[in-house]
Amino acid sequence: MMNTNTAINYNIIAVDFDGTLCAECFPYIGEPNLPLICALLEQKKLGKKLILWTCRCGDRLSEAVEWCADQGLTFDAVNENLPEIIDLYGSDSRKITADLYIDDKSALPALTAI
Ligand SMILES: [Mg+2]
Repeated sequence: MMNTNTAINYNIIAVDFDGTLCAECFPYIGEPNLPLICALLEQKKLGKKLILWTCRCGDRLSEAVEWCADQGLTFDAVNENLPEIIDLYGSDSRKITADLYIDDKSALPALTAI
């Protein structure tokens, strides 16, 4: 059953790992994207919620999370929705709910002709 609480007023940022937080080098980890990491650290200080949103799983995911922690970057969720969102919608959908998605494979639909 869907919770109708709409009091969530913070922004949620979902960020990809390979090719985004670090250079594309899967299954290894590429050089850090320091400008993005610094920007996300600032956003976190402002109270934004960060979700790591990556295809990595198992040991490769653990390595990515540890690598991010070494950069000072921790997440409110990893490959899942925030608990508040799960409560709001009553399930953890496969698509992460976010206000902003940062991904090296992304495109802006208004600006992109496919
Ligand atoms: Mg990527």
